[in-house]
This record gives sequence, structure tokens and C-alpha cells, in this order.
Amino acid sequence: MIINRYILPILLAFLLGACSHNPLASWVPSGNFNKRQAVVIVVHSTEQKSVKASLDTLRSRNAQGKVSAHYLIGRDGKIYQLVSEKRRAWHAGGGSWGNITDLNSASIGIELDNDGASDFPHSQIDALVVLLGDLCDRLDIPRRQVIAHADLAPTRKTDPGARFPWRTLAQAGFGRWPTPEALAVEPAPGFDPWLALRALGYRLDDRQAALRAFRLHFRGIDDAQSPMAPEDERVLNALMQQP
Ligand SMILES: [Zn+2]
Repeated sequence: MIINRYILPILLAFLLGACSHNPLASWVPSGNFNKRQAVVIVVHSTEQKSVKASLDTLRSRNAQGKVSAHYLIGRDGKIYQLVSEKRRAWHAGGGSWGNITDLNSASIGIELDNDGASDFPHSQIDALVVLLGDLCDRLDIPRRQVIAHADLAPTRKTDPGARFPWRTLAQAGFGRWPTPEALAVEPAPGFDPWLALRALGYRLDDRQAALRAFRLHFRGIDDAQSPMAPEDERVLNALMQQP
């Protein structure tokens, strides 16, 4: 029965792999659980010259340390996957969004090939929208939880930058964006724009940095200097009125 000596271990490995129960313990299943998974999608721009350069960076040792992302999308719309969705890629670094302080553990990271100074082509954004739909459906990630790298790390990052078309993404159903109706409403007396910024998810230990990240995302401008302006307050007020 020499065949059994070879087949049995393979069969056992297959069964254990399929069930993934620890053989040290008795399996007494409970139905009281949910999936441990990503709850946020972080959008980046590579700020590099080409997909090839970014594939190198995301898959090698770098002088500044190893980095990676789950996906990279080329300007032609080609989607590359570098890390399994079940694994923790190294794309977010330090930062926070709402109560989440370890974004790498709680997110899927998507890099967009962009040199930091160019517009994002339609083909690239179309591919991103398809990928976001796929991820949100399969991984059960709330569609409005699509954020910028700058949103979670406003003191360190500005990507994907003021040119990123958040409005187009919102029209496809992803991320937050103020409606024209909500923008037409004047903020009520006593409205606290900083409280609204915090409620969206921004950390306020550096308020000016948070305001800059907010403007990059929701106003399409890079303004790191100006104090909170009426236009900022109007957008924040509008966002607060939407579920
Ligand atoms: Zn980034």
C-alpha cells in the first residue's frame, strides 16, 4: 500500500486547508462572528514617472523602507494586484481616520500611476471605479469609506492631490461629496466647522494640516496657509447634512 503513504498526507493537508481548524483543538463551531476585514479604501498617487518605476518601488527594498499597496492602476487603466486582499499591505503609514489608528490593518490601498503634476486620465478613473465597485461588493466595504492618503495623514501626505476627481468618484457612488442642495444651505449660527472636520474623520492635532487635506479633497485646491474660510464652512456644513 505504498500509494497511501503519499496520498494520505496530501489528503490531510487538503482537508485541513479547506477547514483551517487548528488540529490541536476540538472544532465546536459558533455562528457568532463576522469577517475580519478592511473597512476603508485608501487612494494614493504614486508621484513617480511610470508604472514600471512604481512596480519596482512597491516590490523592492527602498532607502526609506519597504512599501507596498494591494493595487496599482496605470494611466491606461490596467490594474495590477501586488498584495492579497487578505494581507496587510504597507501603504498608509502613521495616521488616523475617525477612530481607526492602524490604517494598514483596516484598509485596502490603491496606488494610481501619476507624477503628482498631471491630470488623471478617464481610462484610469474608469478602471478605479470598476475596481472600487468590485471591492466594496465582495469585501462589504461601505462605499463612502473611500478616502485620500492625505485625509488620514495630513501632516505627511498630500496625495492623490488636488487634481484627483473626487466629484466623478462620488457620481459613481464612492466617497463623500456635498450635494448642490446641501451647499445652498447657510450654516446655522454656532456651527463649529472644526467639530465637523473631526466628525468626518480628520485628526485635529494639527488643524491647519487637516484643513489643507480637507481642501485638497473637497475643494480641489492646495491651500496650506489660509484660515478656515466661509467656503470651507459651507462645504463642511453640507457634508454634515448628508448621511
Ligand atoms: Zn500615498
